[in-house]
Amino acid sequence: MDLGDGIYRVDGVSANVYVVVGDGITVVDTGMPGSGRKILRFLNGVLRVDAGDVDSIVITHQHIDHAGSSLLLRDATGAKTMVHEADADYLSGGRKPLRPRGAAGAAMALFSPFFRLRTFDPDVRLKERDTAGGMEVVHLPGHTPGSIALYDRGKEIAFTGDIVAMRGEHPSFPPHAFNDDEREMRASFGKLLSLAPATLLPGHGPPISAGTDLSSLLAGDGNKESPP
Ligand SMILES: [Zn+2]
Ligand SMILES: [Zn+2]
Repeated sequence: MDLGDGIYRVDGVSANVYVVVGDGITVVDTGMPGSGRKILRFLNGVLRVDAGDVDSIVITHQHIDHAGSSLLLRDATGAKTMVHEADADYLSGGRKPLRPRGAAGAAMALFSPFFRLRTFDPDVRLKERDTAGGMEVVHLPGHTPGSIALYDRGKEIAFTGDIVAMRGEHPSFPPHAFNDDEREMRASFGKLLSLAPATLLPGHGPPISAGTDLSSLLAGDGNKESPP
């Protein structure tokens, strides 16, 4: 789907995968394991670019629905994989991936043989204010320790990972069980709002435009407890 400004969302992939075409080509997030072929087909068939033209693969955070096809995509494109340094060891196998708490965690443990991330060592470990894919890295810890947004100041667009998504009519934080540190995440959300991006492109669901009242999220429970 063409979102304008050289930004595309790959169709038919679980968790949003974006392609940014500018000075170079950047892929933001890589979907679940098994999404790689769909992403490559989108690059070749819809955008008519060669896999080898992809410069960077930026992962908003370590969760498997965002990082799951990173290795396949790196191998197919030769692009650099980039993730915040605080999440990098979870992807390289240095630390065990974070699991959701409670029933969701138990269910995931049960199905984990089917949803196992193939570990890889990210090429670039990002830090606050680094540039990735021509965009500014904004560290937003809380959902995971190394969650980031990618902020394009010129276009006033931010790729925001899982910190917020529309659930029906309302913006919502991720379900409690999936957050590493909820207080920290709320503080990070305040930081994101202070940048005042005109459009948020979240890891799940449709774009969130400036007209949406996001500050009220910080006042309330902010969570409808629907699946991630
Ligand atoms: Zn997540
Ligand atoms: Zn997610």
